[in-house]
Amino acid sequence: MFSRKQRDVSGTTLPPIAIVGGGLGGLVLARILQIKNIDVALYERDQTRDARDQGGSLDIHADSGQVALREAGLEAQFRSVVRPGGQDLRVLDKTGVVYLDEVEGEGEMGRPELLQLVGRGSMFALADNKGFLTHVTADGRIHVYVAFRVAEDWLSTSGIPFEKPAEARAEILAHFTDWSPGLTALVRECGDPIFPRRLYLLPIEHRWQPRSGITLLGDAAHLMSPFAGEGANLAMLDAAELALALAETGDVDEAIRRYEAPMFERAHAMARESKANMELCISVDGARRLADLMASFRQQNGTP
Ligand SMILES: Cc1cc2nc3c(=O)[nH]c(=O)nc-3n(C[C@H](O)[C@H](O)[C@H](O)COP(=O)(O)OP(=O)(O)OC[C@H]3O[C@@H](n4cnc5c(N)ncnc54)[C@H](O)[C@@H]3O)c2cc1C
Repeated sequence: MFSRKQRDVSGTTLPPIAIVGGGLGGLVLARILQIKNIDVALYERDQTRDARDQGGSLDIHADSGQVALREAGLEAQFRSVVRPGGQDLRVLDKTGVVYLDEVEGEGEMGRPELLQLVGRGSMFALADNKGFLTHVTADGRIHVYVAFRVAEDWLSTSGIPFEKPAEARAEILAHFTDWSPGLTALVRECGDPIFPRRLYLLPIEHRWQPRSGITLLGDAAHLMSPFAGEGANLAMLDAAELALALAETGDVDEAIRRYEAPMFERAHAMARESKANMELCISVDGARRLADLMASFRQQNGTP
């Protein structure tokens, strides 16, 4: 986010704001600035909204993502699309033994045989430093992630032809020969393209000195692994707090100072959690360790 030359906007001396990147963070920032009558332009690299696959599921947390949606005036729309059962969590090991099956409330799902394996929300099947992770999308598809702990250049050295999904599936499954056929069916019976991805994270204590007229938010500020389920929530909360600071102070540099200090603090805490969760999940006995972690959360919260 950066600003150009100062000029009067809506009775303040705020300059027009430029936002680079129309992800969750950029869009929430733009939306709240518009509500506050602050001049804003958003630049997005993707040419169209369908340039990349859409429709993943996100857990939008009450103390972060939902706060941002409220500030953006989108709470009612959010409530209207929330999916019952989306927060369900199942944890299995490689034999298919269920270590944890958390079901929240009643909900509908059209495919009972799938419900049996992956549930209605997220499923983690973990063992031997690898795993299958799934979530059910709003339109009823199952997103399947295959996770490996391998060297950074493995995608190019493994020889797996990711551009040929049928061959790639066979080679991926060769890494799971001693896993339950019920679980490997998630890959075997999937007819979709495969997108190889590395997971990167910024150093946990990453920070910078305030710079006049420019700052970062969301992944650009604190990229972390998805294992705390916080990246999208933090991006939206960053955006809301920055937008409100701009509107309240009417001064870009003062707003940046006000925004950055608490942003670093919460991002560092979440980055630590996310890294610890990733180490725990992608480990020799990830299922047992994740189930134990969830049980300790329940104990802390006093839930049965
Ligand atoms: C597999 C996976 C699962 C995840 N699951 C969860 C989850 O369950 N819960 C959760 O909270 N988070 C999750 N995350 C993290 C979440 O997706 C990110 O933290 C979130 O998208 C960050 O939002 P952002 O706006 O900062 O960045 P992005 O969403 O990455 O948006 C950045 C935008 O900037 C654009 N851009 C990039 N460069 C330029 C440029 N030079 N010029 C113009 N535009 C540019 C990009 O095209 C993109 O649209 C997951 C991430 C992954 C990879």
